[in-house]
Amino acid sequence: MRPEPLSRVSLKDYDTRYSGEIDRKVAKALENQLEERMAELQEMLYAQGEHSLLIVLQAMDAGGKDSTIKKVFDCVNPQGVHVYSFKVPTEEERDHDFLWRIHQRVPRKGYIGIFNRSHYEDVLVVRVNDLVPEDVWRKRYEQINQFEKLLTESGTRILKFYLHISKDEQRERFQERLDRPDKNWKFSKGDLDVRKQWDDYMRAYEDVLTYCNTDYAPWHIVPADRKWYRNFVVTKTIVEALESMSLAYPAPEEGLDKIEIPD
Ligand code: ADP
Repeated sequence: MRPEPLSRVSLKDYDTRYSGEIDRKVAKALENQLEERMAELQEMLYAQGEHSLLIVLQAMDAGGKDSTIKKVFDCVNPQGVHVYSFKVPTEEERDHDFLWRIHQRVPRKGYIGIFNRSHYEDVLVVRVNDLVPEDVWRKRYEQINQFEKLLTESGTRILKFYLHISKDEQRERFQERLDRPDKNWKFSKGDLDVRKQWDDYMRAYEDVLTYCNTDYAPWHIVPADRKWYRNFVVTKTIVEALESMSLAYPAPEEGLDKIEIPD
């Protein structure tokens, strides 16, 4: 699920229905434990205030970005988490370099930031729809790597998840959005135009997963047809990353043991 850094990725080698050798019930029980640990680690991250964690989520439509955010982070203190959804750039954003709007949303020390879509749109939708010439988007892989290196060296840990669903699974999820009145709002007719470009998107994703999969800001390809397995993998990966960040509560002020609280 974690390709070797900078090795060529071919998405057909990654099974979207894979669910490990783990049973669903066992995964759910483990996930509950992991969520408790995530809540503790997030509190330490916040209290220590020295590092931040940036989580990038990318997927095709109906790939599960929204529900991953809802399920995986329901255990943490919302005060320490910011979610940002990147949309079509505004005129002001387009008048700057493509990373300008992104940089402003990078989490400050002590916080977890979640990007629902990200700077990777600038080498995905932009590439597939020829929104800028190739010589412009080609340079962006290296520009992104340099940007992510800067963030890492400045105390931000970066984890990137590509939620990998099959085209059949997308059809089923779209159908559900059409059939269920409470899900109609999630469907837009334009989603079908993007679906027609499926193969072009797969090629664009493969390049992202190949060129921008660095040691310091790795991509995780998450099999996402089964929602329970997707949530388990994302939760586990985040907890492992937080565990490796040497988090600790800050030392207390001196003399706290001698303090008597006056009436
Ligand atoms: P979502 O599909 O993430 O739930 P929306 O339906 O509002 O949210 O879609 C956001 C749209 O913004 C997507 O079509 C996405 O491709 C587009 N978008 C995001 N970033 C860029 C960008 N840099 N350039 C062009 N389009 C972008």
